[in-house]
Amino acid sequence: MASRPAVLMRLMASAYAVAEKAGTIVRKVLQSGELGIVEKSGANDLQTLADRLVQKSICASLSKSFPKVTIIGEEELPAEAVEEDLIENGQSSLILQKSCPDQYASLKEEELVVWVDPLDGTKEYTEGLLDHVTVLIGIAYGGKAIAGVINQPFYNYQMGTGASLGRTLWGVLGLGAFGFQLQEVPDGKRIITTTRSHSNKLVIDTVQAMEPHDVIRVGGAGNKIIQLVEGKASAYVFASPGCKKWDTCAPEAILQAVGGKLTDMHGNAYTYDANVKHMNSAGVLATLRNHEYYLSRVPQAVLQALPSN
Ligand code: AMP
Ligand code: MG
Ligand code: MG
Repeated sequence: MASRPAVLMRLMASAYAVAEKAGTIVRKVLQSGELGIVEKSGANDLQTLADRLVQKSICASLSKSFPKVTIIGEEELPAEAVEEDLIENGQSSLILQKSCPDQYASLKEEELVVWVDPLDGTKEYTEGLLDHVTVLIGIAYGGKAIAGVINQPFYNYQMGTGASLGRTLWGVLGLGAFGFQLQEVPDGKRIITTTRSHSNKLVIDTVQAMEPHDVIRVGGAGNKIIQLVEGKASAYVFASPGCKKWDTCAPEAILQAVGGKLTDMHGNAYTYDANVKHMNSAGVLATLRNHEYYLSRVPQAVLQALPSN
């Protein structure tokens, strides 16, 4: 008799299904025209009805099936009952069929931490830059990002009404990443992807110091990691505080699953234990290849302004 899949694969199978439901919610809220925008710390830090509904959907669905997992979501929401129609009970059968990498086969539910960004790129969502938007569910064990799901609700939206909208990318360390075609920027070409709405002098100086052939300014941490794994950009450079653990956990896992790397501007890894500080204070540098080159170009003044801790 086949044994029950490992908890990591069951959690990933559920995360995949609830990320797809999240994508549906994100599209529905936009169609309704009532975004319900709230400013958090300021005009560049927004929350919409979609952020709220999706966080409720993901957190309630995962904690129903995995009550011992620690789940940390970006939005601060009142503790209230979650409507039944937000709960997703499904699981991706494709993920359940894959075998769990040996090193994670005997993990226990209570050892896992899930980081949820219900809507990454909210600013861009409110501005109609729809392909920048993603839903991020990252799984950490022992402080390391080991698995993640990224749903891109509006993938294909510029292809016309016939095209199927949305996609889900996922990956597990030691297993690989799926839902996209891995591609690299041509050798020797430095294309940097960075923020469009949270820039400052540190960010600009660092990008310039890397002597890029091209710079792409787009929203979302999830979106920028997708550019790295699809050969659109060679480095994601954000030399500033601002990104949080829920922005980087799922993207880091998927990037690492295909051999890439995500660190702070000093080259140090972030950790994802449940009690860790949320802010990625020393910035984000992510690459598929040649991480050392980009690290070596970070100006001293930037390193001093962004202490690691
Ligand atoms: P961006 O590249 O500007 O889209 O940022 C990636 C992620 O980090 C998004 O979720 C942003 O909301 C978040 N972020 C970056 N900088 C800031 C900031 N200064 N204030 C609030 N959120 C930020
Ligand atoms: Mg975000
Ligand atoms: Mg968000």
